[in-house]
Amino acid sequence: MAERVIPLVDQRLTALRAAVPAQSVPATGLLADTLGRPLRDLRISVTDRCNFRCSYCMPKEVFDKDYQYLPHASLLSFEEITRVARQFLAHGVRKLRLTGGEPLLRKNIEILVSQLAQLRTVEGTPPELTLTTNGSLLARKAKSLKDAGLQRVTVSLDGLDDAVFRRMNDVDFPVAEVLEGIAAAREAGLGPVKVNMVVKRGTNEHEILPMARHFRGTGIVLRFIEYMDVGATNGWCMDEVMPSGEVRALLATEFPLVPLEAAAPGETAQRWGYADGQGEVGFISSVTQAFCGDCNRARLSTEGKLYLCLFASNGYDLRSLVRGGASDEELASAIGHIWQGRGDRYSELRGTLAAEPGTGRRRVEMSYIGG
Ligand code: SAM
Ligand code: SF4
Ligand code: SF4
Repeated sequence: MAERVIPLVDQRLTALRAAVPAQSVPATGLLADTLGRPLRDLRISVTDRCNFRCSYCMPKEVFDKDYQYLPHASLLSFEEITRVARQFLAHGVRKLRLTGGEPLLRKNIEILVSQLAQLRTVEGTPPELTLTTNGSLLARKAKSLKDAGLQRVTVSLDGLDDAVFRRMNDVDFPVAEVLEGIAAAREAGLGPVKVNMVVKRGTNEHEILPMARHFRGTGIVLRFIEYMDVGATNGWCMDEVMPSGEVRALLATEFPLVPLEAAAPGETAQRWGYADGQGEVGFISSVTQAFCGDCNRARLSTEGKLYLCLFASNGYDLRSLVRGGASDEELASAIGHIWQGRGDRYSELRGTLAAEPGTGRRRVEMSYIGG
């Protein structure tokens, strides 16, 4: 069993200053970072709480009854989130994804969805508006989310075997309720629904083929995610990673696959189609195949810190600008300036960084900034 690494520093307590630059960076939609990467995708974490305790994300031993979640006053309000998102769109963002924690635990989330749905990209079109959820509350909320303007959902589901699933969510939540949530989402028109399965060797690799059998031919896109070394609490080790190449080879024993073109630049998943035309699957291979080269994603934490990479140690405190009286132009200028300085490419450097003692301890938790 892998040794559990306890974080030495709570990354939520430290922040980088977000300053309005002397030389204004107006929002032209043409922003690029130091590696020439544009800003297209903003992931917004709306809560750091969750009703699941997936061991790879919020292990029970750490996220127990004594764990200090963020107090309500430090969360960005819906108006603050919408205001910040508007500046990101002005800089070229086209896609907004709500995440968490479990985003459906945030009270009245539909109100935020309806506010974000009113925003426009620089091209004058509504942004793509999606949400990632563990599906536990989806059966109840799918219709109201759709009515509020949500376009699609991604549901995380790590297996179909009830015992395996209950063990992985570690709160004994039944798989049947998540499947109901997926069905409700389709019925409400929140499709094409994507299903994300984190594959952990020794835990759920025997669920790969049953999941593929279940979802192929349904229009639902199943995506296999390599277990990642996010955060510092999940005791990650390479032995538990099942490389996407192996998952694909296993699938191919039953279903021949053909490679498909990427749907959009910077897309995280590599797409493969079933050779018999029964739909497609995706592979998110952050560990074995870095995709930093065209990473166009920014992350906004629950309390308004801007993270430039999923594996960053610190975020830039936009909330202090929002609450400190900065104008929209100043806020946009600060965001632009921060993005212009971005050089993050953690996955490409992972091997090198692992050799540096201590570096593995300084990453922010995924439940705090979202996936
Ligand atoms: N609670 C929601 C959910 O589970 O969909 C949204 C937040 S969750 C942090 C977003 C995604 O991150 C989920 O698909 C989850 O499976 C994935 N995730 C969390 N920890 C991970 C890890 N260590 N490696 C790979 N994926 C992970
Ligand atoms: Fe909760 Fe999602 Fe993390 Fe699981 S992956 S603990 S559902 S935030
Ligand atoms: Fe983007 Fe960071 Fe992931 Fe690379 S490691 S793809 S820069 S989020």
